[in-house]
Amino acid sequence: MVAASRAHASGVLELTNRSNLQIRGVREECQGALIQQLLDAGLGPRHANADDVRNVLISPAAGRDPAAYLDTRPLAEQLLALLQDVPEFRDLSPKFAIQLDGGEALAMLDHPHDVWLSAVPGGNKLAFGLAGCPRGDALGVVEADQAVPLVEALLHLFLELAGEHSRMRQLLAELPAQAFLARLPFDFQPATPSIASPALEGAPLGAHAQAQPGRVMLLAGAPLGRLHAEQLQALADLADAEGSGELRLTPWQGVLLPDVATDRQSILMQAMSDIGLLLDARAPLARMLACSGATGCAKAAADTKADALRLATHLGPHGPAQVHLCGCPRSCAAAHVSPYTLLAQPGGHYDLYRREQGQAGFGRLLATSLDIDQAGEQLAAGNSE
Ligand code: SF4
Repeated sequence: MVAASRAHASGVLELTNRSNLQIRGVREECQGALIQQLLDAGLGPRHANADDVRNVLISPAAGRDPAAYLDTRPLAEQLLALLQDVPEFRDLSPKFAIQLDGGEALAMLDHPHDVWLSAVPGGNKLAFGLAGCPRGDALGVVEADQAVPLVEALLHLFLELAGEHSRMRQLLAELPAQAFLARLPFDFQPATPSIASPALEGAPLGAHAQAQPGRVMLLAGAPLGRLHAEQLQALADLADAEGSGELRLTPWQGVLLPDVATDRQSILMQAMSDIGLLLDARAPLARMLACSGATGCAKAAADTKADALRLATHLGPHGPAQVHLCGCPRSCAAAHVSPYTLLAQPGGHYDLYRREQGQAGFGRLLATSLDIDQAGEQLAAGNSE
C-alpha cells in the first residue's frame, strides 16, 4: 500500500469511519498498474465482480479484546465468503453492510447496518437485528453455527422483496420487521434484552489491556483521518519490530497496533506520537472531523482540512465536544451529526450549528458567515452554548 500510493498516487491515504483506507490523488495513467499492484498484494475479491459486497464490520480488537465473548474473525471470514460466492448477492448495493459484534469493549456500535449480529454472553449464540445496530432491539437469537445460514436466508429474502429499494431500512419502512421475518424460512429463538457493550465517548485513543497476558494494544488516531505513506511505513516498521507485524484500521479513522509488550507501552506510544499520530483523546484534533474539502471534492465550498488544522490552534484540551467541518450539506465524513457542525458557505466562510438530543439536521444555527478564526474564538470562548 505504501509503495503503491507513492508510485501511482500522491502518497496521501485517507481512513474512513467504516475502517476502509482510500488512496488519494491517483494519477489517471496509473490506474491499471495500481489496481494490479493491490490485487498482487491480496487485497482483491474472491471473484472479479464481487468487490463491492465485502462490507462486514468487526471490532478492530477482535481476538484481542478481553471483554469479548467471541472471536469474530472466523465467522467474519465465512460471511465474506458467502457474500462473494453467491452470485445473487452481487446485486446488493455497495452500501449494504453487515456488522458482527463479539462483545468487545473497543467497538463502534453506533453506525446503522442493514443486518447486525452480536454475541451474547457465553459466545455460543448471536442476537441479530435489521436496519440498526447492536444498541437497538434484537429481533431474534441463533446458535453461532447458524449465523451464516441465517444471513444467507435474510439476504435472499431481502433481494426477493426489495423491489426498488437498496437498503434494509427502506424496505422495513414499508414492511414491518416482524412481517419480514414471518416470511423467513429459518427457525430462530425469540430476542433477548439488548446486550451491547457500553457506548464509548469519542475515539478510545491510547493503551488498552489485551486478552493475551503481558501484551497491550495501542489505538491511535490519524489527524483528520489522513495519513501519509511515510507515516504508514513507520507504523508498519513499529508493528514488525515491537508487535506481531499486524496493524488494524479502526472506525475512528485511525490504527490499532496490537501485541505490544506491556513494558514497551510508553516507548511505543511516544514513537507513534513522534510520527504524528494522536494518542490523547483530549487533543483538539482528536475531537475534530473534516471531509475531503476543496482539495479533494468538487462540491466543497472550503478547504475543510486546512481550516480544521487552523481551528485546532484555537482550542485547548477542554474545548468543545466533537466539531465537524463540512464542505457541503451532504456531511459525508460522519455517520452521525456531531455536537457542533461548521458548514461551509460559498466564499469559504462557515455557519455554526449545535445539535442537542432530539433536534433534526445539524441542530440549532448559532452563527453565520464566520471565518475559521472567528469560529475558533467562538468555540473556545464557550459562546457556542
Ligand atoms: S461533505 Fe460535501 S464537500 Fe465534503 S466531501 Fe462530502 S460531498 Fe464533498
